[in-house]
Amino acid sequence: MAIATINPTTGQVLKSFEPHTAEEIEARIAAADAAYRRLAGTTFAERAGWMRRAAEILEREADDVARLITTEMGKTFGSAKYEALKSATGMRHFADNAERYLTPEAPVPASDVNASALSVRFDPIGVVLAVMPWNYPLWQAVRFAAPALMAGNTGLLKHASNVPQSALYLGELFERGGFPPGAFQTLLIEGAAVAPLLDDRRIRAATLTGSVAAGASVAEAAGRNVKKTVLELGGTDVFIVLPSADVEKAAELAVTARVQNSGQSCIAAKRYYVHTEVYDAFADRFVAGMAATVAGDPMAEGTTFGPLATERGRRDVQELVDDARSKGATVLTGGDAPDGAGWFYPATVLADVTPDMRIYREECFGPVACLFRVKSIDEAIERSNDSDFGLSSSVWTNDEGEVARLGREIDAGGVFVNGLTASFPAVPFGGVKDSGYGRELSAFGIREFTNVKTVWRA
Ligand code: NAP
Repeated sequence: MAIATINPTTGQVLKSFEPHTAEEIEARIAAADAAYRRLAGTTFAERAGWMRRAAEILEREADDVARLITTEMGKTFGSAKYEALKSATGMRHFADNAERYLTPEAPVPASDVNASALSVRFDPIGVVLAVMPWNYPLWQAVRFAAPALMAGNTGLLKHASNVPQSALYLGELFERGGFPPGAFQTLLIEGAAVAPLLDDRRIRAATLTGSVAAGASVAEAAGRNVKKTVLELGGTDVFIVLPSADVEKAAELAVTARVQNSGQSCIAAKRYYVHTEVYDAFADRFVAGMAATVAGDPMAEGTTFGPLATERGRRDVQELVDDARSKGATVLTGGDAPDGAGWFYPATVLADVTPDMRIYREECFGPVACLFRVKSIDEAIERSNDSDFGLSSSVWTNDEGEVARLGREIDAGGVFVNGLTASFPAVPFGGVKDSGYGRELSAFGIREFTNVKTVWRA
């Protein structure tokens, strides 16, 4: 994919970039390695000071950064600004909590292991390569960068090719906050150039957020080199509504769950399983809510969501809808891309979706919901788990027994009850099955890229 800013609202190419040469890549890896040696000698307090200054800069520049994000990938200005401020909050969270998350622990009394002293330390491991997607250009990268830098690692960011200016902004932000030069840099390279980087002994680990194919490719290269990976991949999250739920509220938030970020969110609800007792009441409100959304100019007030980020992305969504329609799915609203400039796609609801349709199993990265009627909680759980993915879920019930069951039996990295699935700096985030492995955020996330080191003393 060519490295360029192409405005999804107009389809216009605004700025193109040449990929870094082999020499430029080598200089950045060497700088990251040298910065790691410097960073390893700094204290949590020093790193926290730099992180807070970087957060202040981001907060000050939030309007400009938001305009840049909207121009590069099409989300509304309001949601882009929210993302910038959320990223700053995440940076402050790790500035405030990294030392506590990484305080050495004594898992058992030293005498249990014939020692006079025992501790488990969480030391940094070196340069980590981060391959990131365009859908949350700032937040996806920051939720790797903030814990990694606070742990004492350095980072090389290979961002998606359609958000190069957001990537370059991030490549300077941490140094502007005070981190040593080289601590966090952007590599302008295409996806195909990533795997060979894992052969470099100075790069110690990798994290990738993106599609299953890209994740598998990075994990394969890392595996050959015995290097750790964390993978945050796709999802076909469920939204389950049971009879005791507040159906009105569930239907209102069901719309947000599907159209947030123009439907291009890994944790957006994609499959809606609604109990037959409340199906009609939910479906009427949900379909009306989806039909009332406005897909339009992302800079304008009153727009619910902007265009899809890429022309290819919109084609993929249309193909999934057309495949379902040709095999008998009912289109309750939406279903066709409008004519004219920009990669807009309307909020769409499909019913009568069957297993032979691609959309039944594949992730649809656009504002298209599949609505299913189920007879029982058993059927809801069984059908939820009949998926190759397991990222998160949103379940709606006021029955305590059902809450406990859903929490235990949904096969995913998260179960959000009576609310939208979301990421919070203090809460672990990640999936199971094809949605990936490892966790981001919280103490679990920051410890992924550490050397869990036993120090035993006779
Ligand atoms: P993608 O094509 O996999 O791209 C993601 C990143 O991987 C980009 O930087 C891309 O670079 C790079 N890449 C592509 N092919 C690669 C390869 N063979 N080797 C190494 N790197 C490669 O994903 P996308 O379609 O743009 O993004 C949407 C996907 O990300 C969805 O499946 C979504 O669910 C997932 N996602 C998951 C999470 C999560 O936390 N679980 C969060 C957000 C998104 P180029 O741009 O240069 O191709």
